[in-house]
Amino acid sequence: MNSIKIAYRNKVEKLSNNELSKLFASKPKNFLMSKEWKELRKLAKVKYGVKCLSCGSTKNINIDHVKPRKFYPELALDINNLQTLCGRCNKIKGNKIKDFRS
Ligand SMILES: [Zn+2]
Repeated sequence: MNSIKIAYRNKVEKLSNNELSKLFASKPKNFLMSKEWKELRKLAKVKYGVKCLSCGSTKNINIDHVKPRKFYPELALDINNLQTLCGRCNKIKGNKIKDFRS
């Protein structure tokens, strides 16, 4: 691991969850690559099933933020803000707040 990565890791470990999500929200690529997000995605699939909550498709399932990460960075790592959508429904939903879980 290079020194930049070590410095980044040290910095990140000192941050609270709230600060962490804000950091990830400012850098979408970092967020999507993070181990926190990868682990949370798996939990969300267990919780909601590998099925689109909008159309029922089981193909190309995305984990969507009900309240978009862009506007609610503090909810980026909150499992209660997640839902499963297929790629198509996720694209249609975009940055709108739309809850398909109920
Ligand atoms: Zn769908």
